[in-house]
Amino acid sequence: MKEFDYIIIGGGCAGLSLAYELEVHNKLNNKTLAIIEPRLEYKKDKTWSFWKVTSHNFDDCVKKSWKNFSINIPGKINHLECNNYPYQSIDSGLFYEKINIRLKKNKNIFFFKNLDDIDKKNSFIFNSVPEIKKNHLNLWQHFCGIEIETEKNYFDDSIFNLMDFDCEQRESVHFFYTLPYSKNKALVETTWLSKMNDNSQKDYDNQLKNYLENHLNLKDYKISYKEEGAIPLFYPANKEIKSQINIGTAGGMTRLSTGYTFLNIQEHSKYIRKNIENISNVKKYEIHKKYQFLDEIFLRVLDKHPEKMSNIFFDMFRASPKTVIKFLSNKSNFFEDLSIIFKMPKLTFIKALFY
Ligand SMILES: Cc1cc2nc3c(=O)[nH]c(=O)nc-3n(C[C@H](O)[C@H](O)[C@H](O)COP(=O)(O)OP(=O)(O)OC[C@H]3O[C@@H](n4cnc5c(N)ncnc54)[C@H](O)[C@@H]3O)c2cc1C
Repeated sequence: MKEFDYIIIGGGCAGLSLAYELEVHNKLNNKTLAIIEPRLEYKKDKTWSFWKVTSHNFDDCVKKSWKNFSINIPGKINHLECNNYPYQSIDSGLFYEKINIRLKKNKNIFFFKNLDDIDKKNSFIFNSVPEIKKNHLNLWQHFCGIEIETEKNYFDDSIFNLMDFDCEQRESVHFFYTLPYSKNKALVETTWLSKMNDNSQKDYDNQLKNYLENHLNLKDYKISYKEEGAIPLFYPANKEIKSQINIGTAGGMTRLSTGYTFLNIQEHSKYIRKNIENISNVKKYEIHKKYQFLDEIFLRVLDKHPEKMSNIFFDMFRASPKTVIKFLSNKSNFFEDLSIIFKMPKLTFIKALFY
């Protein structure tokens, strides 16, 4: 069986981002890479959105970028600006296509469906398959989004709605998220932060229909695309193994309080590329410990007091939006962290330290 210098297990967001980063920096001119990916074909299956706090390789896959956003709770709306860090949405279909076209040009890159097809003894492995152990106490961000098209112009595409909590909460945390791509096209998503122990919140189609028709007052629309998913708000159980680095969700690249992962994956890819010549000895890359600590407390509050969360998110954005965005994107300094912490209900968070 053939041997390779590097193996990437999982050709999804993290696996392909890393392969692309290595390829465009000429790190695969004299090295061989095997990518293991079981899917039969690549098609659009996700929309990755984030505040652009650092540069990345995929500006040409951005479907739309916004400089204004809103957040609302029943009876209150806050309009905010994100001029410094525009919010971008990446079309995964364009992302997969761009990367695969580039990788297929390099004769040192090979594609397999199954790890058993190759010899992995002497390779350095980058693994992006998360080990998720079933635990009914785990929190998830689970959601379903539809892209809709309306005949008449309906949306203001200069502003997106990050969170609309003016909806049924079912003793949990629930909001709608709307990304207007144009005046007559938008992604509308129903999102839950919960333990997902049963299917009682998964009547997504009804939730979306009800929101569109009764809340947005939109009766006439066509659904052109649908995506459904769940992001673990806990770290997967992947072990640290010699000659292997876990990447993507498996490598702890998800910010647990928000589910944001895409830009962390890009930063991890850059880190690996910069250290690839000495990869066996490189220090583990992780989201800064202060965010891991603060997110843990935040999720304890969310778990214990779901009814308080809409106000907590709303009040968080009363700090300067630039500061909140930096905080949620792992780029805040100590003083910015403090200004966010001061917006939180202090007693609730102090108690959460001791649960
Ligand atoms: C629908 C959806 C929307 C999301 N939206 C956002 C967003 O807006 N912003 C954001 O920052 N994050 C978002 N995320 C979170 C995160 O960015 C994505 O989950 C991202 O795809 C994670 O990348 P990954 O490489 O870790 O996992 P994946 O992209 O899922 O890649 C893992 C790959 O491994 C393959 N695989 C599975 N089993 C095996 C096996 N046994 N052997 C080999 N390969 C295998 C899979 O086919 C897949 O291609 C979203 C997640 C989902 C599910």
